[in-house]
Amino acid sequence: MSQYKNCSSTEQLHFSTLAIHAGQDADPSTGALITPIFQTATFVQDELGVNKGYQYARTHNPTRTALEECLAALEGGKYGLACASGLAAAYTVTNLLKAGDHVIVGEDVYGGVYRLFEQVLTKYNLKFTYVNARNTEEVEQAITPDTKLVWLETPTNPLLRLADLRAIAKITKANDLILVVDNTFATPYFQKPLSLGADIVVHSTTKYLNGHSDVIGGAIVTSNDALYEQLQFHNNAVGAVPGPFDCFLILRGLKTLALRMREHEKNARAIAEYLEGHPGIETVYYPGLPSHPQFDLAKSQMTGFGGMVSCVVKGGLEAAKDVVNNTKLFQLAESLGGVKSLICHPATMTHKPIPKEVREHCGIVDGLIRISTGIEDAADLIADLERVLPRTAKAQPVAACAVASK
Ligand SMILES: *Cc1c(COP(=O)(O)O)cnc(C)c1O
Repeated sequence: MSQYKNCSSTEQLHFSTLAIHAGQDADPSTGALITPIFQTATFVQDELGVNKGYQYARTHNPTRTALEECLAALEGGKYGLACASGLAAAYTVTNLLKAGDHVIVGEDVYGGVYRLFEQVLTKYNLKFTYVNARNTEEVEQAITPDTKLVWLETPTNPLLRLADLRAIAKITKANDLILVVDNTFATPYFQKPLSLGADIVVHSTTKYLNGHSDVIGGAIVTSNDALYEQLQFHNNAVGAVPGPFDCFLILRGLKTLALRMREHEKNARAIAEYLEGHPGIETVYYPGLPSHPQFDLAKSQMTGFGGMVSCVVKGGLEAAKDVVNNTKLFQLAESLGGVKSLICHPATMTHKPIPKEVREHCGIVDGLIRISTGIEDAADLIADLERVLPRTAKAQPVAACAVASK
């Protein structure tokens, strides 16, 4: 096991260092610098009841252990659990509940999480109430005697709305509820929910943590011994675990997370500012813009604002289709958080499982476009958008002339 596990010296090492070292000591059996892919289903025992810490690869695998220790260190948590996908991580967390329990959910939660809750878990008599989590009081008012858990995303997908984690954690603590935060959008590089009072962090590692759009994975991180014990039990009992090659790829991705997030953010900021000045755009959603209604909260609980930008194009569905169908660098695809820029249309893609009235009530209108900025050159990305955004009202030629004539 790594020297960084449960080690107080972890706190003195910085994020970029942990990403490369936590859980990743040289392999003791060979000296391999980089954690090998332990492609084995089982582990030979020295004698009856004596093993080297590994028995069967559903339960533990050394490549997965390395990833889990690194994830825990990056989130500032004690324990990490790698799962087969982000949804497998979400499902594993809900295994903490039993029939009759009630969950409060931030209303613009990831579409697949909504589908899991509404179309799978309601069959087991779990109850879900969706609230506007920007308003802390709404979370508090939704608590019933059966409430066990609060499930939040911040920033949310795709509207980049925030929930005040410190304030909500006070309420969940006072009411003995488990606070779960899906930290996929911010990543631990920009936000550490455990330090703000959350009990459990979940991730789709498919996104920024792996970062190269070539793996499906998920993770859970917690510092709570009792919760970890149950989560680990269910991870093994349900068996939705990742293979060693996927763990290797995610661990490889993590090594450059800090570098990538800085570039994602730089590009996202440039694009958000460009969109904000474009006459074909109705609204821009980016928590790093001073015009974002929760800009102050963003600055107080995040150390950066991430790589996701959404906007509403003037002209509704047809205008939005025109944009997403015609960009050249921005690829039309679901998913996010990779080095290659993506563009998508939430209403007909990621959020299709959500009924139209619910969707529109949450602000996911037909003109909404979501951009996952990659780490290409910002000038090329902006030129790609400039080519396809509605031309009707091009950027202020009069003002340009006035400047030129001075
Ligand atoms: C993608 C995503 C998920 C689901 O993860 P998968 O790896 O696709 O199963 C959950 N939450 C958020 C915020 C996501 O973006």
